[in-house]
Amino acid sequence: MRFSRAFIPTMKESPADAEIPSHKLLVRAGFIRKKASGLYDILPLGVRVLLKIERIIREEMNRAGAQEVILPIMHPAELWVESGRWDVYGKEMIKFKDRHERDYALGPTAEEMITDLVRKEVKSYKDLPLNLYQIGRKFRDEIRPRFGLMRAREFIMKDAYSFHASDEDAEREYWNMYETYSRIFERMGLVFKAVEADTGEIGGKFSHEFMVIADTGEGKLVYCEKCGYAASTEKAEQRKPEIPENREEKFKEIEKVHTPGVKRIEEVSEFLGRDEFPPEKILKLLVYIVDGEPVAIAVRGDREVEETKLKQVFRRKEVRLATDEEIEKFTGQPKGFLSPIGLRIPVYADYSVIPMVNFVAGAGEEDYHIKNVNWGRDFKVKEFVDIAEVKGGDPCPKCGAPLTEKRGIEVGHIFKLGTKYSEAMNATFVDEDGKEKPMVMGCYGIGVTRVMAAAVEQNYDENGIIWPVEIAPFEVIVIPVNVKKEEIVETAERIYKELLIAGFDVIIDDRNARPGFKFKDADLIGIPYQIVVGKKAKEGIVEIKVRKSGERFEVPVEKVVNKVKELIEG
Ligand code: ATP
Ligand code: MG
Repeated sequence: MRFSRAFIPTMKESPADAEIPSHKLLVRAGFIRKKASGLYDILPLGVRVLLKIERIIREEMNRAGAQEVILPIMHPAELWVESGRWDVYGKEMIKFKDRHERDYALGPTAEEMITDLVRKEVKSYKDLPLNLYQIGRKFRDEIRPRFGLMRAREFIMKDAYSFHASDEDAEREYWNMYETYSRIFERMGLVFKAVEADTGEIGGKFSHEFMVIADTGEGKLVYCEKCGYAASTEKAEQRKPEIPENREEKFKEIEKVHTPGVKRIEEVSEFLGRDEFPPEKILKLLVYIVDGEPVAIAVRGDREVEETKLKQVFRRKEVRLATDEEIEKFTGQPKGFLSPIGLRIPVYADYSVIPMVNFVAGAGEEDYHIKNVNWGRDFKVKEFVDIAEVKGGDPCPKCGAPLTEKRGIEVGHIFKLGTKYSEAMNATFVDEDGKEKPMVMGCYGIGVTRVMAAAVEQNYDENGIIWPVEIAPFEVIVIPVNVKKEEIVETAERIYKELLIAGFDVIIDDRNARPGFKFKDADLIGIPYQIVVGKKAKEGIVEIKVRKSGERFEVPVEKVVNKVKELIEG
C-alpha cells in the first residue's frame, strides 16, 4: 500500500465526545469515524485490524472443531416469542415491521436463530455434538452508547453455539472453548484474565468472562496470585469469617447518642471520632425490594452491596433499592437512621457483619444512633449471606492469600446454557437409549470490534497507538524522509518491494511531506516497525525504529528483510 493513495484521514485533535484513549486514538489515527450515537464507519485501517482479529478467531475456532455459518441479521419475531424473550429482552432490541406488517428484530444475539436451524436438522445423538459460529453484525440499542467501539449500538461479534447429547459433553466443550479463547487472546498479544462470572437466571457455575486488563475498563475483577482464583467482582466470593470466640463476653451496654443531621457512614464516623469508630465499626443498613418484597440488608460500613450477587442469593429477577417512601412505609423509621433493632422486615446480613462486635447503628429515630449494638443479642439476623463486593486485599475465598484487584474490559464470554432454549423451542434428539431429550447447549461470544478498542486501551503512549504486531494494520512502514532525493526514493522502493515479496504487510509513506510529519503519523497509527530511509541511503544504510520500545538500529539495506523477520518473530 502507498500512503499517498491510502484513505487514512489522521487528525491533530481528539473528538470532543471521546473520553478514553482508544476512542480518541482510533478516531485521530483514521481507523473509525462516528456516524451517529453508537454507530461508526470503519475505515480501511480499521478493517485491516478487524480482519486480522477475525482471522485469528477463525483459525482457532476451526481448529477447535467449530464450523462457521452465516445467519440472517433480521430475526423473525416468532422465534423470540417461542423462547419467551420477545417481551423480556427489553428496549435494547431494535424491532421493526416488514411490508406485510410482520414483526422482526435486528439480532442482538442469536440463540433462537441457531436453535431453530439445529432443531430442524438434528434428530439423533449421532449428529451431536455440534458447534456452529458466525462473525457478524449485532445490534443493541444500548441505553448509554459510549467509549467509541467499546459500547456501540451496532458492532461485530463472533458468536458460537454448541449442542450436546449430555451435560458432560457440554462441559467438555465449555473447557474446549475456554482453552480456545485463551489461545485467541494470547495470539492477539493481549494481557487478559479469564474470570468466573455471574450466570444470571440460568445459574450454575459455568460462565467465564475474558477481561483485557485496562484502567479504563467498565468491569472489575479480583484474582489470587497464589492459587489462581479469578472472578469478576459481580461474582467474586468472600471467604466466610469465623464468629469471634467468646463474643458475648465482649458485649457492652447499649448506648443511645445524639447525632443531629449525621446520616452517612462517613459522617457518623467523623462525628463519633474516626479512631474509635471507623466505618468498619458502623453498620450500613439498606432496604431493598426483592420481587416486590421489602428486605433489610446489613453490611459493614466500609463495604458496598454488589447487586448482582444479591440477585443471585435471592434467585430473583428484580432487585432494587427501596424509595424513601417505601422505606418509611415498610419500616416506620426515618431514612438515614434505620435501626436493625425492632425492625419489622427480615434482616439479611453480609458475611462482613459476622465478626462485628459492639458496633454503631441507627436508632430508628431522627438524629440518633446507638453504640454497642450486637447481632444476636439486639436483633435477629435471618441469614448471613455473601452479598458485599470483594475488594483488593481481601482474603482469597479458596486459599486465603490477599486478592489483587484490577479493572478490565470484557472481550469474551463463555456460558453453559443447559436446556433453557432447547426446552423452550423444542430442540430435541433421540438418544442412544431411544428416548427423546432436549439438547444441552453452550454459547460463546467475542466482541470483535471491542477487541480492537481494548487492544488500543492496553497499548498506547503520548504519541499514539502501539499495535501488537499480530493485529497491526501494517507490520512495517517504510519512510523515505525526502521523496525528492533519488537515492532515498530508490532505496525505499527497493526495501518496500522486498518486504512485499517476503510476505510482510507493508506500507510506504511516499507522500511529499516533511519527515517530522510522516514520523508523527507513523507513531499515531501505531505501526510496530518503521524503516527510515534517510541520508545514509547513499552508503546503503537505513534505520529501523521499534514503535513500542523506541529502539533504533542501523541496518544495511540488504539485511532489512531479515532484520524485520527477526524482530517480528521475536
Ligand atoms: P456487557 O456486559 O459489556 O454489556 P454483555 O454481557 O451484554 O456485555 P454478551 O451478550 O456476552 O455481552 O456479548 C458477547 C460479547 O460482545 C461481549 O463479551 C462483548 O465483548 C461484546 N459486546 C457486548 N455488547 C457490546 C456493545 N454494545 N458494543 C460492543 N461490543 C459489545
Ligand atoms: Mg450488555
